[in-house]
Amino acid sequence: MPRSWWRLGLLLAVAAAVLLFAVGRGDVVAAVALGALILLTGRAVFRGYSVTKGPTGPPVDVQEEGTLLVFACETCGEQLVLLRRGTDAPPRHCAEKMVLRRIPVERRADPRFN
Ligand SMILES: [Zn+2]
Repeated sequence: MPRSWWRLGLLLAVAAAVLLFAVGRGDVVAAVALGALILLTGRAVFRGYSVTKGPTGPPVDVQEEGTLLVFACETCGEQLVLLRRGTDAPPRHCAEKMVLRRIPVERRADPRFN
């Protein structure tokens, strides 16, 4: 929308607000202003949730000898084993970023699993 339309709309909104105040209906102006404030705040907050960080490069195997890379949720305790990394951004769980941990693993005695 061109800037001139924004100015015209803003001018009309201010004129309508002044007219409503003049006829004693300032409560309508306050309700519309409060509704606009809530709408703009909600859009600003939820816009951040809809933006995801894409891959930062080709996926890379991240196996380390003797350790498991595990993403852990510090809120509920869920853990995910990381085998391939496609992005530097950690996954989220319980609305929080998961924490990357290196957990040592013991070599199994059964040679079929080594
Ligand atoms: Zn969780």
